[in-house]
Amino acid sequence: MSYDPNNIFARILRGEIPCKKVYEDSHALAFHDINPQARLHVLVIPKGAYVSWADFAARGSTEEIAGLVRAVGKVATQLGLDASGYRTLANHGPDSHQEVPHFHIHVFGGQPLGRMIQPPGR
Ligand code: AMP
Repeated sequence: MSYDPNNIFARILRGEIPCKKVYEDSHALAFHDINPQARLHVLVIPKGAYVSWADFAARGSTEEIAGLVRAVGKVATQLGLDASGYRTLANHGPDSHQEVPHFHIHVFGGQPLGRMIQPPGR
């Protein structure tokens, strides 16, 4: 899948659409999800143009990958989630229902999060 430069997160990165920013550095931007699925639901995105996990893993530089992983850790710490706990999640492709074709990591927390995933058939 080729990268669509007009996807919503690309537009947020260019400042064309507002976001509730939580954290930013040279590699990553983090902001609150517009439709939160937990008391705390933040998205952490790389600043580079990557469609999904597969694209980022294949084409991202070592610095970009390290930068994004460290940003997720910093965001969780900044949100005060280290002691209570949190969950990270990244959707890739149709089975995962990925909606936005700019790679992003969800960070959920602020409440007990239940089981890891809904088993098939439930
Ligand atoms: P995914 O299904 O993994 O692609 O998740 C996309 C997420 O982006 C969803 O949780 C949406 O609620 C969220 N989202 C879509 N548009 C915006 C926006 N303008 N600002 C913040 N979050 C958004």
